[in-house]
Amino acid sequence: MRAADDGGGTGSAGAQNKREGGLGRVFDYIEAHRDDSLRRLADYVARPSISDRATEVAATAGYLKEVISKIGMDVEVISTAGNPVVVAERRRRPERPTVLIYGHYDVQPPDPIERWTTPPFEPAVRDGRIFGRGTADNKGQHLAHLLGIEALLACDQELPCNVVVLLDGEEEAGSPNLAGFVAENRERLACDLVVWSDGPVHSSGRSCVLFGVRGMIAFDLRASGANRTLHSGNWGGVAPNPLWTLVHLLASMKSSSGAITIDGLSDDVVAPTQAERAALEALPGDIEATKRDLGVGHLDEPAERGLAERLAAWPTFTINGLHGGYGGAGSQTSLPHEAVAKCDIRLVEAQSTAGAWAAIEAHVGRVAPEVELIRRGAMEPSKTPLEHPLARPVAKAVAVAQGREPLLVPALGGSLPDYVWTKVLGVPSFGIPFANVDEANHAPDENLDLEHFFLGVKTAASLLAHIGDER
Ligand SMILES: [Zn+2]
Repeated sequence: MRAADDGGGTGSAGAQNKREGGLGRVFDYIEAHRDDSLRRLADYVARPSISDRATEVAATAGYLKEVISKIGMDVEVISTAGNPVVVAERRRRPERPTVLIYGHYDVQPPDPIERWTTPPFEPAVRDGRIFGRGTADNKGQHLAHLLGIEALLACDQELPCNVVVLLDGEEEAGSPNLAGFVAENRERLACDLVVWSDGPVHSSGRSCVLFGVRGMIAFDLRASGANRTLHSGNWGGVAPNPLWTLVHLLASMKSSSGAITIDGLSDDVVAPTQAERAALEALPGDIEATKRDLGVGHLDEPAERGLAERLAAWPTFTINGLHGGYGGAGSQTSLPHEAVAKCDIRLVEAQSTAGAWAAIEAHVGRVAPEVELIRRGAMEPSKTPLEHPLARPVAKAVAVAQGREPLLVPALGGSLPDYVWTKVLGVPSFGIPFANVDEANHAPDENLDLEHFFLGVKTAASLLAHIGDER
């Protein structure tokens, strides 16, 4: 293990050594308890807490209550309109910061079950990995945090900071009750930062800290023509063609050079800061390799932006599907009566779903008022600034536990309910994924690499130690 770069600012060299020494003992404890930790992960994964199996989910919440209280936290299973939430806390250091660890104990269905090498709820270890539904997504990742807490308490009487653990029981069903639960329990959940570990490390295999996610709106555009399909010779040029209506509307929404041209939609977008641009440029990403991987001769416009910057810092408008008229064998010279475009727009911080809906509604109303806009779903974007004062101890905690600086990812291209922390609870949120890139989450043979798991436990302990130093 490499000595940590102190970077100046938090305490003397003596205090630094003391902390490193303290973590050294904690890391030794974690190493010495590998078999026990693995056994406990297997015991947890054996419980089939699939989101829509209420009985199994409730039983697993009860099991967690026992597990967590043995670790030394006050824990409660709290019912919601859906599956219960497990909330645990240990707040014994009023002068120190509080970390909220978020995870989810529900899992995806294991189907297609016949494609598993060993049964999904009979965890098996082979080739240095543990296989089973929920090993990586997400039981192994939040159990790593719980084991990190246990290791700290075994080596010292008290945790270095205050900790709240919130385990969601319906993340795989879209966390429909999470934002409401957090809003109603602000005081109980009061904290200085949220940390969550889910998904894989960076695709390059390096660890990363995630600072945000893009938001999203999904919608249909539906155009109608005559009340029936018509002969294109007898009616073409007379009856309106809903496919042409949609094609013109869609062309007015995005230019061939990649700019979204929906009036007002991108007004609030702020270009990446210098720190963000530097972090994005440091992310591994090879344009030629990406083209080969995708089997394409060129990438989408605008070409001058790097891959990571496109995914993290700018909105994007995708036509998911365009449907209407005849698509069968040969030709049929007909004039369709209806056409639908299914679309989504990924939003970046500073945009909002309300603003995006208003912009699209106004644009469609102006360009093609006869087209119906059908809202399908929405999620707010979220971002914690790279310059946030707590970003430094978080990144340093990873470096100390893992021996290498993590990559800093300003935002994930996809969408997760991270806004619940940054916008509902109003605190910074950091993602520290522990799983291997080929974790096969949501798929047969889901697995967690054991080295990733134990590094996760060490990182979790290191995180609390480093946050505890921020007074
Ligand atoms: Zn998942």
